[in-house]
Amino acid sequence: MIKSKLKLKAVTLLTVGWGVPEVLGADVVQVKKLVGDRLEPYLPGSSVKGSLRSAASRVAEGYGFTSCGEVEPSRISKAHESMNGPCDVCKVFGWPNGEAALSVGNFKLTGSTKSLVLTRVSLDDRTQTAAREALYSTEHLPPGTVFEGEIRFLESRANLLPLLLLALAELRTGRFGRRSLVDVKLEDEGVFDKFVAGEWKELLEELREWLWEGVVRP
Ligand SMILES: [Zn+2]
Repeated sequence: MIKSKLKLKAVTLLTVGWGVPEVLGADVVQVKKLVGDRLEPYLPGSSVKGSLRSAASRVAEGYGFTSCGEVEPSRISKAHESMNGPCDVCKVFGWPNGEAALSVGNFKLTGSTKSLVLTRVSLDDRTQTAAREALYSTEHLPPGTVFEGEIRFLESRANLLPLLLLALAELRTGRFGRRSLVDVKLEDEGVFDKFVAGEWKELLEELREWLWEGVVRP
């Protein structure tokens, strides 16, 4: 198993929400867990993996990897039938009854950060009376907030590691969630060097540094 630490840094305000209606535009579904005596937000590995999957789908074919372009299980199976087997994106991120090469752990907050909490009145209040109980809160993490997690990749599919690198690069130049921008940094301590061919070394080196520097810290 190829393992690496991965850091994610909010470049813009990151909107996180717990049970927040989609219309309020959470970038990530926030989950909180009890750490000591307080609740701390963390990013579920599944949502980070989902963002990476969409990023990979956007760029795969441009770099010679195959992509069925589907996310819905029955459509994936159908698409793969006509492709003579699972596409590269699915081999990395998983498909129905197929093992994903990549697994992504939960991302926990590093350091201390102050979140800004906004409370809004329900948008569905048709009675015009302020439904005081129908308030929603959204939480915004300031730019500079860093999350840390672990990714693992099957060694037997190391030939597809470049697709993961491309997805990471795409993620930090594109959109994370609905409107946030998130930087990524790979802290693999040289592990990937063994598995990544020469033509991808430059990309690998780039991913070992933050792309967005000079972010105002809280
Ligand atoms: Zn596929």
